Amino acid sequence: MRFGTKAVHAGQEPDPQTGAVVPPIYLSTTFRQELPGKHKGYEYSRTKNPTRDQLEACITSLEGGADTACFSSGLSATSALIQTLAPGDGIVAGYDLYGGTVRLFDRVYSRWGIEIAYAEGNELDAFELALQRLKKPALIWIESPTNPLLSIVDISALSDLAHKYGAKLVVDNTFATPYLQTPLLLGADYVVHSSTKYLGGHSDVVGGAITVRCPDDIVPIRFIQNAVGSVPSPFDCYMLLRGIKTLHVRVERQCINAEKIVDFLVNHPKVKKVYYPGLFANGDLVKKQMRHAGAMVTFELDSDETVNRLCRNIKIITLAESLGAVESLICIPYYMTHASLSENKKKQLSITPTLVRLSVGIEEVDDLLNDLETALG
Ligand code: PLP
Repeated sequence: MRFGTKAVHAGQEPDPQTGAVVPPIYLSTTFRQELPGKHKGYEYSRTKNPTRDQLEACITSLEGGADTACFSSGLSATSALIQTLAPGDGIVAGYDLYGGTVRLFDRVYSRWGIEIAYAEGNELDAFELALQRLKKPALIWIESPTNPLLSIVDISALSDLAHKYGAKLVVDNTFATPYLQTPLLLGADYVVHSSTKYLGGHSDVVGGAITVRCPDDIVPIRFIQNAVGSVPSPFDCYMLLRGIKTLHVRVERQCINAEKIVDFLVNHPKVKKVYYPGLFANGDLVKKQMRHAGAMVTFELDSDETVNRLCRNIKIITLAESLGAVESLICIPYYMTHASLSENKKKQLSITPTLVRLSVGIEEVDDLLNDLETALG
């Protein structure tokens, strides 16, 4: 099956009992056992639930992986993967990452004996130097495109590098989605998602997922999932399954809109710089590992005054955190998504108060362009 067919059907057969085309949501927390320990594969819904199974099968199929575990948020998925490590293990963290991931690394797991070394750039050399700073490198953790500067990291080269050092590569695929990029097929070991974003696609459900390339790698993750218990509700799993059915259609339209908005922004006198993978010097790499440059656009405005005017006057595009949904959202990472980073870190990453991140939605693009034009003044 091709992507769009899998998005609609994978993991979701019509209900064998009634023929219902949309499988029922299994709200039951517990399952009848014929005899102690003799059951149909389900005992208790923290451990395993049929609706969650369907969602996991669907994401596995889209990512081209071996198995998936779904969580109650992107950060709980991230957290579970780190909890499979032992004190003394090390993580090489990508140069720019979602602020909440950095907070989890620096302010939670570094206190529990996990060593973190940040790459000082997005190039291979920077990752290799960071690997050499760690005593026991276990994971390299990247986003590509990165958040919020949308830099592209070479997934295939980085998986080779990780494996050379006996480590595994984790790719947070939230920004690209499996429609645009499948890191496991490029050699990565784990894909992490905040399914709150493009997978859900409607800003109405918080969720997370980890997909593995090797079947054995799911075992410790499932152990943590059951032991710690940060599982999504069956209803949230259903909402995600419903959202994923239109993933390819939404992302296709969002990418078309994004390209037109990029054209507008690069020619606008108040825009100093546009960050968009389609404009980057490493365009060949974008083409090699992505179907399209995506629908996230980041840009630098000329002054605080212009940022204030934009935030106050934007009407169709909403000033809000999050991304990837049908509606266009704008945010100022410095004050919003990346507020938890230190002043130094923000400076190092060029996350300034005049940097704007736009998640392009599926509205009519001319309305979005008018909105931006009016608000920028
Ligand atoms: N990864 C990325 C790239 C994100 O943008 C986010 C949230 O914005 C997360 C992970 C965390 O996901 P959640 O908010 O679902 O916990």
